[in-house]
Amino acid sequence: MSTFDVEHFRKDFPILNREVYGKPLVYFDNGATTQKPTCVLDTISRFYNSINSNIHRGVHKLSDESTQEYEKAREVVRSFINARKTSEVIFTSGTTASVNLVAFSFGEVFVHAGDEVIVSEMEHHSDIVPWQLLCERKGATLKVLPFDDNGVLKVDELERLISDKTRIVAVAHVSNTLGTINPIADIVAIAHSHNIPVLVDGAQGIKEGVDVQKLDVDFYAFSGHKIYGPTGIGVLYGKERWLSDMVPWQSGGDMISSVTFRKTTFNELPFKFEAGTSNYIGAAGLATALNYYKSVGVETATAYENELLQYATKKLLAIDGVRIIGNAPSKAAIISFVLNGIHPYDTGTILDKLGVAVRTGNHCSQPVIDHFKLNGTVRASLAFYNTFQEIDRLVEAIERVKEMFS
Ligand code: PLP
Repeated sequence: MSTFDVEHFRKDFPILNREVYGKPLVYFDNGATTQKPTCVLDTISRFYNSINSNIHRGVHKLSDESTQEYEKAREVVRSFINARKTSEVIFTSGTTASVNLVAFSFGEVFVHAGDEVIVSEMEHHSDIVPWQLLCERKGATLKVLPFDDNGVLKVDELERLISDKTRIVAVAHVSNTLGTINPIADIVAIAHSHNIPVLVDGAQGIKEGVDVQKLDVDFYAFSGHKIYGPTGIGVLYGKERWLSDMVPWQSGGDMISSVTFRKTTFNELPFKFEAGTSNYIGAAGLATALNYYKSVGVETATAYENELLQYATKKLLAIDGVRIIGNAPSKAAIISFVLNGIHPYDTGTILDKLGVAVRTGNHCSQPVIDHFKLNGTVRASLAFYNTFQEIDRLVEAIERVKEMFS
């Protein structure tokens, strides 16, 4: 059994004490969003109570303090992902915004009629649709790297898909539906051998611990709310060599250097991509979340989550009629499953009434669901504050669902 002191860390998350329908909450929807530790909530309230002022613009004390907190947060992110420079760390509203930023700003400069963009078959819609729109706008073609029936990407096929027209490869670090951890370093090595940059959707992968220099990715996108931080804040890491040649995405406010009615010049990196008033309080909350996660221990937390995953997988497979969707050898703690003859929505609704929060449907990755010819799955996505007892609660609840439908 695990030596991870989960009860100690659960105390940091007040929401885990609540009940739903008179039953203690089992929160297994961490892939959609994670819960927030008290220290993150405290940072946000401290900021509003004692520092709040718009950044980068004021000559007064509060504005100076706000700006310092915001730039300190950037340094915390830089260090967490081991980016070379803070100028390569852009604050956005989340993964979706980060991918849209690259699809537009990179696409405007580097993608032309007849070019190709490669995405994988297991992408979240947020890493498909921005590329699809880019391709439509430019007259380019979207190509798809497939996965096999275990949910493993067919990385060998990447060589075949790449042509002299390929301009970028976009792939998830971890699939939000299958749980597959993709071999990013291998994908990057193949793409780079053809001088093609790689964008990694790290919405689910950031929790695994990421070193952008070691992975040698060109872009890495993630959301604060999926790593114990607030909503409305996210990050785009980009290599300076690409960012400096890319055109701005949104315009106005902080991204401006000078404006006349004849011509506007843009601010330096990273501000060139931070239009308007940034979510500086969200950034401070994210920094606290990353520091907190580091204090738990990224490796220790993921090792414990992996124990939970193994336990849950064994328990679920022992239930007659359960089929797990996504059986890659390398998986994050995300389990999608279907129950024979029972619609995922019905399963999810009953599990909810029994106090177990899961997600049902296509998880914003419809091509994955189509691959398996399903109408959706039930997804339990775990975090380090979950317990083995909670998995037992899920198993009991599934047995109840089966009884009700038998
Ligand atoms: N990519 C993946 C793999 C995701 O799981 C999600 C959210 O579930 C997103 C992108 C979109 O993230 P956000 O809604 O925070 O922009």
